[in-house]
Amino acid sequence: MMEVPASSHPGVPRMRIQTILNRVEKFKSFVYGAAHLEERADGPALVVRVRPRNSSRPQCSGCGRLGSAYDRLEERSFEFVPVWGIVVFLVYRMRRVDCKGCGVTVEVVPWCDGKNQLTTTYRWFLATWARRLSWSEVAAIFRTSWNSVCRAVDHAVEWGLAHRDLSGLTAMGVDEIAWSRGHRYLTLIYDIGGAARRLLAVAEKRTEASLRSCLESLGETACKQVKYVCSDMWKPYLNVIAEKLGAAVHVLDRFHVMQKFGKAIDEIRAEESKRLKRDGYEPVLKRSRWCFLKRPANLTDKQTVKLAEVLKYNLRTVRAYLLREEVQRFWEYKSPAWAGKFLDEWTGRVMRSRLEPMKKVARTIRSHRPLILNWFRARGQISAGAVEGLNNKVKLVTRKSYGFRTAHVAKLALLHNLGNLPEPKRTHRFC
Ligand SMILES: [Zn+2]
Repeated sequence: MMEVPASSHPGVPRMRIQTILNRVEKFKSFVYGAAHLEERADGPALVVRVRPRNSSRPQCSGCGRLGSAYDRLEERSFEFVPVWGIVVFLVYRMRRVDCKGCGVTVEVVPWCDGKNQLTTTYRWFLATWARRLSWSEVAAIFRTSWNSVCRAVDHAVEWGLAHRDLSGLTAMGVDEIAWSRGHRYLTLIYDIGGAARRLLAVAEKRTEASLRSCLESLGETACKQVKYVCSDMWKPYLNVIAEKLGAAVHVLDRFHVMQKFGKAIDEIRAEESKRLKRDGYEPVLKRSRWCFLKRPANLTDKQTVKLAEVLKYNLRTVRAYLLREEVQRFWEYKSPAWAGKFLDEWTGRVMRSRLEPMKKVARTIRSHRPLILNWFRARGQISAGAVEGLNNKVKLVTRKSYGFRTAHVAKLALLHNLGNLPEPKRTHRFC
């Protein structure tokens, strides 16, 4: 093989790793020193020494003022963003500061905070990837641990929450999701005003305390701005909204109201299907479950044909289905007065029917009539599909995470993915 002599490109300096490091992240009071490659059990590692710039004085971690150097601690490694499948460490001996105000303290360094082993830049790097892939995948790809990825996300979320802007918050959605196996719930609140839809807060369970803690995390100023709030009919939520967001128009949103019908129709269909079979009738309801539960527009061609066929029969299920479809039209009304009349007429009719599960829904609707009619007062201020849309996104994140290990992890992953949180401005984009 022919060797290229160094002098073959006169005037072109050889690229040093320090030059690249200074290009991606430069520190004012520190310089990159000697670098070497180490062969470790789990692969190669690039180790770069960092030293204070000549005559720079260390900064006290107590008060932030510059002091004089007292002594230096043992060497510490800080993991940096990997390159070419090589892990990268910055190695530095922290100085202790002789501070006039605080006594002897450890200095502040710009690439890391506290006792962290990962540099701040690397934590942002991992957190960015954790939004695109599952946390275990991120850990495997970058040869780090799941816990490091989790802490990186934690850090990103904490920073984002502290720096986000809530000044434009005017409409809020309250939702709940079941997570993990069994009946464990999370309470979620969304910003559903305008284009910037985002998840605002998450709390464990679905009690009054859950929603209170969500609202408290936003602060009083933000809550006072809220003009519209959407929720389902869950009593603890209704109580807290009346107490904490009393000045806002409270709307029971379409998504959550219509959700109540799903269970009712399913119950009627299951019972009727069993009865038809027992009495020796044709099993017309077989495999029709989704035809009744899905909105007509979302049915497959096969389901549309099936539904059209079933609708020809005078069945209890069909009657319940048609009653629900009438309520779909309810949301199209312009005037709250006419919408109210429709609701009264409709609930009256259902109450005279013998469809017990539907009567239950009608009673619920009747007892929440003013909040449901608020829908028309909030028209145009909140988007009809906002809560449902965010609810679907929450489910996607849950699925990507293969279920969450703890409520804390669930909270982090959801806020990280759907919180639309700000990030610090950087001069170089690492990923
Ligand atoms: Zn100090």
